[in-house]
Amino acid sequence: MGKININEFTLEELEEYIESIGEKKFHAKQIFKWIHKIGVVSFDEMTDISKKLRDKLKESTYILNMEIIKCQSSKKDGTMKFLIKLLDGCAIESVFMVYNHGNTLCVSTQVGCKMGCKFCASTKDGFERSLSASEIEGQILTVERYTNKKISNVVYMGIGEPLDNYDNVVKSIRIINHPFGLNIGARHISLSTCGIVPNIYRLADENIQCTLSISLHATTDEKRQSIMPIANRYNIEELLNACKDYIKKTGRRISFEYALISGKNDSYEDAMELVRLLRGMIAHVNLIPVNEIKEKEYKKANERSIEKFMNTLNSCGIVTTVRRELGSDIDAACGQLRKKYIDNKKDCQKL
Ligand code: SAH
Repeated sequence: MGKININEFTLEELEEYIESIGEKKFHAKQIFKWIHKIGVVSFDEMTDISKKLRDKLKESTYILNMEIIKCQSSKKDGTMKFLIKLLDGCAIESVFMVYNHGNTLCVSTQVGCKMGCKFCASTKDGFERSLSASEIEGQILTVERYTNKKISNVVYMGIGEPLDNYDNVVKSIRIINHPFGLNIGARHISLSTCGIVPNIYRLADENIQCTLSISLHATTDEKRQSIMPIANRYNIEELLNACKDYIKKTGRRISFEYALISGKNDSYEDAMELVRLLRGMIAHVNLIPVNEIKEKEYKKANERSIEKFMNTLNSCGIVTTVRRELGSDIDAACGQLRKKYIDNKKDCQKL
């Protein structure tokens, strides 16, 4: 039988496991802290655990340690983009960003993505598999070890659709949140979804209180369907009703992401329609100048039209900001580094 990945246990599961191997339950807390708070990668670093117990753990379990294949650092703003290798050889991306409010890590939740959004690089090569909770949390541990910097905010906005990997994502939030672990408060965790409506309702009932971001990107069902296949499953009205439920149950403001694509969704009429849709909701709009990716035809809206769009929303009382473009010199937009890696691998195979 293969060894167990000890990082995958919640504290309660670890307690059960430690008891099942005939040891005292309190050791679970010590081990959990070593793994998730301190971030050790070897049992021998657990100095308050007896050698006998360490040996026992080594025999039956392993500590997840993921390898960094590549790190690109932006010379402009300190953004660092990591290509991380999972134990089965799959690769994912995490992006480290420096903001005034603290260091932020953007984590992936899946290898590839099924959602098929027309403008997104992550979905271009299809879907491989979902990440486990420890692979999601492990991105933070890996990057903290590498940079020697503390991460205080986590955004679930990397490769994959978090609500298409619901159980593992929720489990990872609970582990990241845990006082004996990284202890990152739920209010410092944002989860972004393209809008899997039933799971927005489920998330509202989890009692987690993380910030929810909705990738809206269009104001009519027809336009949304033309760029996001998920819009064929759930219309905007159903999506916004789920958002209202989330606000009601959690008291948290929702952030709507809107990637401005030139000539597609950046007109005055689009802005006014967005005002109509969001009026009365506790919401915030985050405008993203669309990142142009090689294979896709969408063009970035120009600066003037972005500003006009923002001013229209703000003057109608919808709080709107434009997302700073961090790491523009290092392919920091979603999925672009992994895509290059896959393309290179394909090229190698061809040789
Ligand atoms: N699957 C989730 C989270 C990952 S993407 C979601 O859809 O929300 C994080 C954000 O980046 C989403 O709002 C996504 O729509 C946006 N995004 C993806 N590709 C982009 C691009 N080329 N330009 C601008 N934003 C993009």
